[in-house]
Order: sequence, then structure tokens, then C-alpha cells
Amino acid sequence: MRAELISTGTELLLGQILNTNAKFLGERLARLGIDVFFQTTVGDNESRLAEVLHTALKRANLIIITGGLGPTSDDLTKETAARVLGLELLTDELSLVRIEDFFRVRGRKMPEMNRKQALMPAGALVLANMAGTAPGMIVEQAGKSIVILPGPPVEMEPMFLETVEPYLKKKLGEDRVLIVSRIIKVLGLGESTIEEKIRDLVDKQVNPTIAFLAPRGEVYIRVTAKTGTEKEAMEMIAGIENEIRKRLGDYVYGADGETMESVVAGLLKRHGLTVSVAESCTGGLIAKRLTDVPGVSENFMYGIVTYSNDAKTRFLGVSAGTLEKHGAVSEDTASEMAFGVRQAGGTDLALSVTGVAGPGGGTPEKPVGLVFIGFAEGNNVAVKRHLFTGDREVIRWQTANAALNLLRGYLMQL
Ligand code: ATP
Ligand code: MG
Repeated sequence: MRAELISTGTELLLGQILNTNAKFLGERLARLGIDVFFQTTVGDNESRLAEVLHTALKRANLIIITGGLGPTSDDLTKETAARVLGLELLTDELSLVRIEDFFRVRGRKMPEMNRKQALMPAGALVLANMAGTAPGMIVEQAGKSIVILPGPPVEMEPMFLETVEPYLKKKLGEDRVLIVSRIIKVLGLGESTIEEKIRDLVDKQVNPTIAFLAPRGEVYIRVTAKTGTEKEAMEMIAGIENEIRKRLGDYVYGADGETMESVVAGLLKRHGLTVSVAESCTGGLIAKRLTDVPGVSENFMYGIVTYSNDAKTRFLGVSAGTLEKHGAVSEDTASEMAFGVRQAGGTDLALSVTGVAGPGGGTPEKPVGLVFIGFAEGNNVAVKRHLFTGDREVIRWQTANAALNLLRGYLMQL
């Protein structure tokens, strides 16, 4: 099956809204093993929509159009499609009753304009809309399926999942190919080092395939299997994943939905340990990320953002002498911050970060991206120095990552 997506709406062309429908449909179709060769976005204009649909009919046998099913005059998808396909528009009585009901249960009378939403191309399969008034439809013609769905994602997504996906699965029948991916997340090794370590796997990849992504100082390895059943795909991926984990060891911190913070929170829970953090350049990001994890309250106790020198002294007990002699961005300051924040409330462990996030404020001795991360365990404190590159946001993200990863490293050894 070769699919093509057509998104309608002038606001998409103007950049006023993001085309999340194309993202959603692209993902779902890929999972079904359906190739999408083209995506087109077209404004609310009848002749241009007709042109796009003509083109799509030449090169695809599954066409999914979203948007333009509303009651107003700029909603013209159905009218255009019916004209291009040479079909009459007829009132679908069941849809009309549903639309009237939609208004009745909300204590309103159906505006005359909405009557138009019950018009369907002759012979179309009508798809009920549980979240709005516009029904969707599937028209089959000359071996092709034309699927038309409402624009609002809250209406389109459930309609696709509940009606279109089962329709497509049935059409694909037995020789359906599933595409399943899993993302293996790595921190602390560069892309080229990783590639060296798994080169033989990458070289002989056919199925599953291996691809690299590099978001914000991390490396994601995406393993994708194409096969008939979910179970088979998972097994194929597990084989490669185990081999990758063996080669990369603890540099792999998680996979798929796991995040650095969720992994760290899980380890803290497993060992029954408490932690606190003192942050300067990350401005609370580490505390924010840890508290994003539900149930972390037994392990994460508190975070203190000490941005000024004075605050570092007052709340964490960093000595004025240290700040004067070594500066706020220094190994000694990071060390005293970690020590101080742990002492403040008596947690088992503590993290501290201080650094230059940029874009300004760098000097030859202390350039933008220089970060010190402290880790306290009891009265022992260790400090790691990093030099990150990137803009302010990326440096802050990497700093938080490195701090959490330092904690993870400790917890993994227990
Ligand atoms: P309505 O009955 O609300 O007019 P419709 O089926 O006619 O629905 P559109 O008029 O094209 O759909 O779009 C309505 C709204 O749905 C848009 O203003 C936008 O908020 C959302 N929408 C439409 N298309 C997309 C898309 N491709 N991605 C994300 N949101 C979309
Ligand atoms: Mg509309």
C-alpha cells in the first residue's frame, strides 16, 4: 500500500499551527508498515485542493485528507473530493441524527449550517465522530481508498484509531508488515566512539536496522525491525539490544520511555536513599527533572537554587574565602555546595552544579560551557569538571544530565 497525506488549512501554511496530524498519521502508518511517499499541505482553496488530490490519485492507493469538514464555507474538502471523484453528495440520515443529538445534549438547537456536515459522497463508508460533529468517511474507487478526517486532532486521532486503523489492518490482511522501533539511550560516549564499538552490527544491518540520533549531547540508537508480528519484532530487537548493551556497558542508561531522571529515581528507590541538590547555572532544572517523576517524594528531599555568591554562602555555607580565591565556578565551590546542601537537611546524598551557561560571562580561564559538578555521600565529596558546547539551553540540559548521571554511576555500584 502506498499512502499519501493531504493536510488542508490555510493556518498550516501560515505557520500558525503545527501540523501534528501529519506527525500522528505518519507514525501510525509507519507502524502498520504502510509506506508514505508524499505529504502535501494545501490551503482552504478548492482548485488547489483538487489539483493536489488529482496528483495524489496518480501515485498512491491510500490517500488520507485531514481538515475542512466543518460547517463553514471555507470547509470544502468533501465537496472538492466528491467533484474530483465524480460522486454526488447525499444526506446521510444517521449522521444528521447524530449531529442533531450532539447539539441537543448540549442544550442547543442545530444551526442550519451544520446540516452540510451530514452530506456524504455516494457510497462512502461513514465514520462516526465521538468528539465533534463532522463525520469522517472512506471512499473506495478503482482500487484506491480515499479517507477524509476532521482537522481537530481531538476528533481525528480517536477516529483514526477506532475506525481507520482496523479498516487498514483488514485490507493489509495476512501479509501485513509491522515496523517496530526501540530507542537505546546512551550518555557519555560520542557517536563515532559508539559506532566503532558496534561497527560490525551496523555494517551487516538489514533487519533490524540501526540508526543514530544525537539530541542535546546524548546519543540515541534506534533499532527498527520489520516483520509480521509484534512479538517477532520485539525478539529481533532484543537480540541486537542485548549485544549493544554488552558492548557499551553502563553508558547505556535506558531505552524508549525511560529518562535519565526516571532511571535515577528508580535506583534511589531501590536502594532507599535520599538526595538533595544545590544548583547554580541550572536554575532548578535538576530538581524539576527529578520531580517530574511520580513517586520520587520518598527519595528527593529538596533543592536549593543559589545563584548569587551571597546565597551560596548564606544557605549552603560556602566560605567567602573560597568564592574570593577560586570564584563561583570552581571545583572548591562545587565541593562546598554539595557538602553544604547535604548537611542542611541531612540527606544521604547530594549533588551540586556551578558553571558558565553563556552566552556571555566566559573568560579564557573559565569559558562558556565550563561546569563543575559536586557529589556528596556522607562527608565525602567528589567533583567532576566538564566542558560542554552548545547554547545556553543545551549547556544547562547537559549539565543536569551529567549531574544525574554521576548519581546514577554511584547508585549502579551499590
Ligand atoms: P472544524 O469543524 O473545527 O472547522 P474541520 O474538519 O473543518 O473542523 P479545519 O477547519 O481544517 O478542520 O481545522 C480546524 C482546526 O483543527 C484548526 O483550526 C486546527 O486547530 C486544527 N487542525 C486542523 N488541521 C490540523 C493539523 N494538520 N494539525 C494540527 N491541528 C490541525
Ligand atoms: Mg473548518
